[in-house]
Amino acid sequence: MPRSKIEYIDSVEIKNKKVLLRVDFNVSLDASSAIADDTRIQQSLGTITHLLKNNNRLIIISHLGRPEGRDKTYSLQVVADKLQQYLPGHSVRLVNDFLTDLVVDKSSETGKASRKEYPKDQAADEVLLLENIRFYNEEKKNDPDFARKLASLAQVYVNDAFGVSHRTDASVVGIPQYLPSYGGLLLKREVEMIGHLLEQPKKPFVAIIGGAKIATKIALIGKLLELADYLLIGGGLANTFLAAQGYEVGKSFCEYERIEHARRLLFLAAQKNTAVILPSDVAVGDPKNTENASAIKRITELTKQDQILDLGPESQAKYGALISKAKTIVWNGPVGYFENPQYRRGTDFTYYAITENTEATSVVGGGDTLAAISKKEYLDKITHISTGGAAMLEFMEKGTLPGIEALSKIG
Ligand code: ADP
Ligand code: MG
Repeated sequence: MPRSKIEYIDSVEIKNKKVLLRVDFNVSLDASSAIADDTRIQQSLGTITHLLKNNNRLIIISHLGRPEGRDKTYSLQVVADKLQQYLPGHSVRLVNDFLTDLVVDKSSETGKASRKEYPKDQAADEVLLLENIRFYNEEKKNDPDFARKLASLAQVYVNDAFGVSHRTDASVVGIPQYLPSYGGLLLKREVEMIGHLLEQPKKPFVAIIGGAKIATKIALIGKLLELADYLLIGGGLANTFLAAQGYEVGKSFCEYERIEHARRLLFLAAQKNTAVILPSDVAVGDPKNTENASAIKRITELTKQDQILDLGPESQAKYGALISKAKTIVWNGPVGYFENPQYRRGTDFTYYAITENTEATSVVGGGDTLAAISKKEYLDKITHISTGGAAMLEFMEKGTLPGIEALSKIG
């Protein structure tokens, strides 16, 4: 599918405007509701400072978690505080409810008088952050009236939230119906890096897909079968493929109802000349036991009692050898039950193999995949770390996303 041509903020002049900026500030919080990792805030700073430099007034929109209605545990106050630290020359203000605090109902004189008109009165050095947009049920429903009210706050809309651009939420696809709309710099980097990689991948192209559920990966696997030379399958996903080939997988995570689908994918791969590599040996054990090392077994030796939790050493070596010769690498999904340190060796090995191959263009993404990477100091050896999990998978599959399609097109 051809990529839609959209405009990004670095190729148009946006000056002295009120700008609604959708970002993905869905940071991970720790047990005391403090920010555990603020990478997502840092990643949008390029777009924020670019827009502020040109004298624009920013009204920033984000969600945090999956609140059911207004739930203070998911307040963006912690994000506002953090953003304030990154923008010392500005004053960041959290807007508790934009509907009552900001939207001016022009038909009602009393309404007008009783409301503080922040966007109108927004000081030059003020950055407004709207409270968690998922506090409003209208967001997920893409309610047109809600989107219109949001749009009424500004003159321009910018989407820098690649990680939510697969959603058809009001702040993603609704607002751009009413405003000139552009892509931010982070969105641009994601679209260009992933788009380029899929358009003309250098060969050999090695894709590593792990994780648990086939359902969330099946469309991508279908697409990768067309593009990649080698598809290395690990994680719980691999078990379903092993079962499809007739191996005993015992008590392992396995989606028996998807075995037929897995078989069809293997058949398709053979037709496309794509080599699907499944584990030949695995670590088995008890997922709850973090003390004792697991046993390594060949996949032909598994019994009904065994539970597969990681790649074995032979499989790691085989995957590593293919990764080291690759010119293009895509990785999504941990190849083992990494939450238990006994079973993170395969995932560590995969990560190191990718960072060792400095010749290849590599793209890595996925919420759990990034969480599984422990040695963050090697991250810059990867060409592109995607901020999207599901968004990255859908973008790889379709070459576009609803949130990208919604932006104004060139020509
Ligand atoms: P991502 O978020 O990076 O796309 P997924 O959500 O698809 O990754 O998969 C991550 C999950 O897969 C992790 O919770 C991990 O424990 C699980 N997993 C990987 N290998 C296995 C396995 N052999 N058995 C059970 N779960 C596994
Ligand atoms: Mg996940």
